[in-house]
Amino acid sequence: MLRKFCPRCAKEIDELFGGLCRECYLETVKFVEVPQSISLLVCRCGRSNEKKKWVQNVSVEEMIERIVTLNVKKDRKTMIKVEYEPFVLNGKTRVPVTICCERVVDGNVIVKHAMTELVLVPQTCDVCSRVSGGYYEAIIQIRGVKYKQEQLLGLVERIVNRYKDTDKFSFITQVQNSKAGIDVYLGSSKIAGKIEQESKRIYKVTSKITHSVCGVKDGRELNRITILLRISD
Ligand SMILES: [Zn+2]
Ligand SMILES: [Zn+2]
Repeated sequence: MLRKFCPRCAKEIDELFGGLCRECYLETVKFVEVPQSISLLVCRCGRSNEKKKWVQNVSVEEMIERIVTLNVKKDRKTMIKVEYEPFVLNGKTRVPVTICCERVVDGNVIVKHAMTELVLVPQTCDVCSRVSGGYYEAIIQIRGVKYKQEQLLGLVERIVNRYKDTDKFSFITQVQNSKAGIDVYLGSSKIAGKIEQESKRIYKVTSKITHSVCGVKDGRELNRITILLRISD
């Protein structure tokens, strides 16, 4: 059998990887290109800021995997796995990340590691700043038969909850109880409209809608909507 040598280090070898020994292949071939560090704005609610937009994440794990993968330049034959130690988010947090790169070369699997650092920078997202600032677009006023008011409030909460993944302003800012009834302050007027329709379908409810202008922002009028829902037996 013909003896094989690595042309780079002259070592005698059985297998060649792209014409080189395993060590020389690992030393000379770049598997991936990755920035030294990747910075990401994250909010305590789990949203992250990408391309100047806040996006909802399934989980922290999914977010890190996606962000790191997006920043890795690689060819199709290289498979990567993103690895990091568990960490606690506490202020600006630096997470060392290992990118495990796997490639099949001349029928043999070669693994090489690349490192990057994910810098998680805490920032309050648009939704959280609205919630904490008491922002609302609509007020639902629940009136009428007393014992049914609580049931209607339950429906309002269920609807808000149902849409919170598709409408980021589907949140309740405040619930006020008074002799007259219950006032619910909502982040989204669209959701308020859905609440009106659905409550009429389920309960004996009559409604009255009032629009008001509450200010101007960026040359646009800010409208607020008040929906009075009167429930009867
Ligand atoms: Zn070699
Ligand atoms: Zn947030």
